[in-house]
Amino acid sequence: MVRCPHRAPIKEVQDFVNRNQKWIQARLEEELKKNKEKLRIEKNGRIFYRARELTIEYKEGRKQRILINGDRFIIQGHKLNVTKATVQLEDYLIDKASEHIIPRAHGLARYLGVDRKIKEIKLRKTKSKWGHCTSTGVIQYNWLIMLAPYSIIDYMITHEICHLIHMDHSKQYWDLVASICPNYEYYIEWLKEQEHRFWF
Ligand SMILES: [Zn+2]
Repeated sequence: MVRCPHRAPIKEVQDFVNRNQKWIQARLEEELKKNKEKLRIEKNGRIFYRARELTIEYKEGRKQRILINGDRFIIQGHKLNVTKATVQLEDYLIDKASEHIIPRAHGLARYLGVDRKIKEIKLRKTKSKWGHCTSTGVIQYNWLIMLAPYSIIDYMITHEICHLIHMDHSKQYWDLVASICPNYEYYIEWLKEQEHRFWF
């Protein structure tokens, strides 16, 4: 007769299920929280702008513009709805990105003596990436980063420009990043935790 040690395996199975349930529950809660924090460009929607929670307001006006006043993020336009407000926010961020990111990226590249390696800097909203750099010198930045604080934007600029010198994520690469942006590890963590609030 084979003695089957029932108790032990059942307990193990139970423990396993319990552990997984906790994990599943935690994942679910995390998803719910992230979903709640997602950017919705509607009246009274919340926008996480430069690390501050602001409330979106629509304002009727012929002139299209975006104003930040205290904790209000005011989108002004004619007969605004979600679609129009979204387009307006997109245009606003693209403008800000071309004013801010492109000259700073060239400035840093000049400082590092690699400006001639830049073939083109593109601004594009991608699904999940913040930036990209090819071996032919085409750099891409996601203009959604303009919602983040300037320190985070600077880190992203630095990240791609340093790839003009090291095309990998080697120790030499990160040493170079650190020489320009000493707090880069903190910025990476911050982005990981907050980036779900930027995509729309
Ligand atoms: Zn990289």
